[in-house]
Amino acid sequence: MLVTVSMEPLRRKRRIFTFVLIGALFFTGMSSLSLNSVSGSEVDKTIYLTFDDGPHPIFTPLLLSLLEEHGVKATFFPIGHRLEERWLSDDLNDLLNRGHLLGNHSWTHRELTKQTQDDLYYQLNTPSELIENMTGFRPNCFRAPFGDRNYKVLNAAEELGMKHVDWSIDPQEWREPKIEEAMEHISERYEDGAILLLHDRTFLSLPILKEVLERFPSSEWSYKTIPECMVNEEKKVRSSTREKGDIPIGNVKNVFKIDETLRVSGWAYDPDAPNGGLKIKHSGKTGEVKSLGQTNLNHEFSFDISDFDVDTPVCLWIENEGLARHNTFLGCHNATFG
Ligand SMILES: [Zn+2]
Repeated sequence: MLVTVSMEPLRRKRRIFTFVLIGALFFTGMSSLSLNSVSGSEVDKTIYLTFDDGPHPIFTPLLLSLLEEHGVKATFFPIGHRLEERWLSDDLNDLLNRGHLLGNHSWTHRELTKQTQDDLYYQLNTPSELIENMTGFRPNCFRAPFGDRNYKVLNAAEELGMKHVDWSIDPQEWREPKIEEAMEHISERYEDGAILLLHDRTFLSLPILKEVLERFPSSEWSYKTIPECMVNEEKKVRSSTREKGDIPIGNVKNVFKIDETLRVSGWAYDPDAPNGGLKIKHSGKTGEVKSLGQTNLNHEFSFDISDFDVDTPVCLWIENEGLARHNTFLGCHNATFG
């Protein structure tokens, strides 16, 4: 099974439940999921997947697994107070380790244009402070709840270093439409540069996303994170939050297919290994997990992989040596052609 979520022991029950749900409900296809190959894309049509209102204890991990199956990346806009109640720093880092991005979606999902100046500041600043404590950076982007914004809201956000991220496709799956109705709405608007809005708090977002990724596969569409949400000096700021004994963090920055080789590069950091030397592993053709090599003194890595297939994503891990903790999952990735 694919999910290697960063979770504290306390969350094991939840993880077990999630696994049971995956197995028992409708992701039957995922149990035979092949993790040992990589799909390439030369496509120039870009789609941005975005998920609002999480994190949800069941639906968010399921969505993350579905994204891994297709090697695609997304941008998440969690509600601040839900993030505080439901996720630890390791959970949020897990989302980032997989290559997804993060934005601010206010503290309690109020209509921002109806807030006093003080309340507006509270709604926008509190989630950014929380995210900074958990990850080392403040989000560079936000999405107003209900899209409700005016100059006052945009100015307040700008003062906090955030640009607004809109959407172009909203199937309103929280209204519980038939999946075919939602797909009709989506298909009519699916075009280069489109931003699809779904919610990782509703069950329906899962079968809809599954259908979307089957109908518009990553071999034909390039799924990217929202550029405005990109983290500046990511390695430096995220690494600064880690302490001895913490699980490692990292990110795969590039996966290029060059002739018969796959070149993967990125970074991985663990304060227990201040001079680098963290082992990076990947899933080979046969599904066997193989060592690729180690990070250098700058906590970066670049490896050439020849053991891969062309049709599904390549998955990577950081080995957490010497500690009785789990490894760090670095996500599953499609190649771009170098
Ligand atoms: Zn929302």
